[in-house]
Amino acid sequence: MPPSSPHPRPLADLTAEELGTWLEAGGFKAAHAGRVLRQLYAVEPGRHGIGTDHGETTAHRDGMRLPAGLKQRLRSAYLPEAATLARRQVSEDGTTKLLLRLPDGRTVESVLMPDYHPDRAAGCISSQVGCAMGCDFCATTQTGFERNLTSGEIVEQFIRLRREARSAGRTLRTIVFMGMGEPMLNLKSVLPAVQRMADPKIGALGWRQITISTVGLVPGIEELREADLGVHLAISLHAPDDATRADLLPMGRRFAVQDVLAAADRYQARSGRITTIQYCLLEGVNDSLAQARELARLLKGRRMHVNLLRYNPTGLSLRGRAYAPSSLEKTEAFLAELRAQGAVAHLRRARGPDIDAACGQLRKREAQDGDKAQLTCPA
Ligand code: SF4
Repeated sequence: MPPSSPHPRPLADLTAEELGTWLEAGGFKAAHAGRVLRQLYAVEPGRHGIGTDHGETTAHRDGMRLPAGLKQRLRSAYLPEAATLARRQVSEDGTTKLLLRLPDGRTVESVLMPDYHPDRAAGCISSQVGCAMGCDFCATTQTGFERNLTSGEIVEQFIRLRREARSAGRTLRTIVFMGMGEPMLNLKSVLPAVQRMADPKIGALGWRQITISTVGLVPGIEELREADLGVHLAISLHAPDDATRADLLPMGRRFAVQDVLAAADRYQARSGRITTIQYCLLEGVNDSLAQARELARLLKGRRMHVNLLRYNPTGLSLRGRAYAPSSLEKTEAFLAELRAQGAVAHLRRARGPDIDAACGQLRKREAQDGDKAQLTCPA
């Protein structure tokens, strides 16, 4: 067996091929790699392979046990988890927000959202610690960009959310990259993480169950198209015109609305997936009927769905503004106008309004509270 590193790597960092090579070098069959990773990825209940703080079992899918000694070797060479749970908040509606502390002390957020179906849930994960995009209404960007997440750190969020869903009697059906960070700026970690999460022999989630969201970075959309993974694409548009968009999102100055939509068209031509347009309604900023008509006009002839979001206030914005959510009347009028103009649009239900559910809020609270924090973590 190759010598163990003094700083064990998280097992979630490894591909099946890498683990297979390591196993073979130690005299075990490479074929055990898939079984070990399926246990780690919690593909089925109660199979946590090399052991985690959630317990473990020796049960296996096909009745075969891992060879004696392998588990011990794995434990000495790899970590079953790299992060620790710093905070856990559960909303009255079942939305669960996790704040994970990474080995370097930095923190990231992941959210589990119950579905309308009582047995399903969706997960939202982060791709970076902090964010450099500077979207004016976002809490994450207020602390700036710290670093990219590794593929293992991304995968670990997925695994933890799958377990959270299971303990709530649900199955994690979808994952969206809409947490902290801009995924297109960390595709070198996001793409391998997605490959492992969707691989039927490892994470077994499915390509169609994964959505990667972007604030509209055209080169990133092109790179995702070239990767040809067949995942869904979501564009955070938030305004139909360049002036309003650039005022809200600095990236709007670099990439015009038409160029972003054209890149999404090319992605769709390759993937066949319908694009989601994310649109967060802000009172008096982007919620007029004229803006609804302009948005519908832009989407005419395109296979794109508009997902209207109600803003979850996070205090003063990056530039000191106090954004407010559009009133319910305005929100419904905007939605009706979009539909009257032929657009396919939905209003997304607000999640976890009684907890720090907006992206970056929980992390901000942790930084403010420090050691005085009242932890909800049951561990
Ligand atoms: S909204 Fe997303 S892309 Fe924009 S600053 Fe926040 S985390 Fe970054």
